[in-house]
Amino acid sequence: MKKKVSIIIPCHNEEKNISLLYKEIDKCFSKTDYKLQLIFVDDGSKDNTINELKELLEYKDYTIDIINFSRNFGKEAAMYAGLEIANGDYVGIMDADLQQKPSLLLEMVKILEKDMQYDSVCCYQEERIESKNMSYIKDKFYKLISKISDVDFVSGASDFRIFRSYVVESILSLKEKTRFSKGIFSWVGYNTYYMPYVPEKRANGTSNFNFKSLMLYALSGIISFSIAPLRIATVCGILFAFISFIYLLIVIIQKIFFTISVPGYPTLLVTMLFIGALILVCLGIIGEYVARIYIEAKSRPIYVAKMRLSNDKKKK
Ligand code: UDP
Ligand code: MG
Repeated sequence: MKKKVSIIIPCHNEEKNISLLYKEIDKCFSKTDYKLQLIFVDDGSKDNTINELKELLEYKDYTIDIINFSRNFGKEAAMYAGLEIANGDYVGIMDADLQQKPSLLLEMVKILEKDMQYDSVCCYQEERIESKNMSYIKDKFYKLISKISDVDFVSGASDFRIFRSYVVESILSLKEKTRFSKGIFSWVGYNTYYMPYVPEKRANGTSNFNFKSLMLYALSGIISFSIAPLRIATVCGILFAFISFIYLLIVIIQKIFFTISVPGYPTLLVTMLFIGALILVCLGIIGEYVARIYIEAKSRPIYVAKMRLSNDKKKK
């Protein structure tokens, strides 16, 4: 029986890339024996993306599923929505902007086909195409988060991946609302083959992520996968208790044995300001976690779908 490959494609303002991407996928997979399910998730695009996607429904060679979000929920939500409806033996995720070549996706499928010991394949950038500073920051971030969390993050690993169907089930079994997929993919475990790749230039349009959004994404990753920041307060508390005890001894010795009077006002002011700032920082860190509990407790859906379309009659 023919094996089925599902490809999830999150799209946010990708009107100029949709038909190009479809053609590239078709060029690559039409020569193979796989059945194909293409899942396009329109993540609240403001341009003509949804109409471009609707045009694809005319093609009948592959199953085409479209989910249209009611607003922009982010790439994480789009990937989750895609994983929910993917029903292939192999399920892949790729960007809509042609930075990731469909031929590489096929290569990843072949790795799983050939080697039963692997459950998923992940493309990673050996050398990043971004600026040196950005690469440095990202490298350091992945080293840090690997150190302070229970899971291993491979630096340069992308969301350009393919999974066997049972891995997808495991990923979906993690119901958290604020999703940090790179962590979730590692957390579920399984045997992943890491394949180096070099991303292409974006075909059309501009990246959806700027420095600020990447920093917030990094922070969200740390909060999702590590409780180490919460321990900063404890560690600082113990450290300062120790320092203040030593200082107390020094003051007593100075007073009793050397009758030196300690300059009170500046010492007091600096210490109070420093401890005050530290307490605020620690409160802020605790606040981040409390906020996360608040969001999770509300248990809102990860996305709201406005419309679902398919060229598969059974699904309509
Ligand atoms: N994307 C999305 N929702 C968003 C932001 C991005 O679905 O809120 C999609 C986007 O259309 C693309 C993929 O996620 O297919 C990667 O985004 P982008 O190319 O902007 O990121 P970069 O490659 O610069 O990291
Ligand atoms: Mg891109």
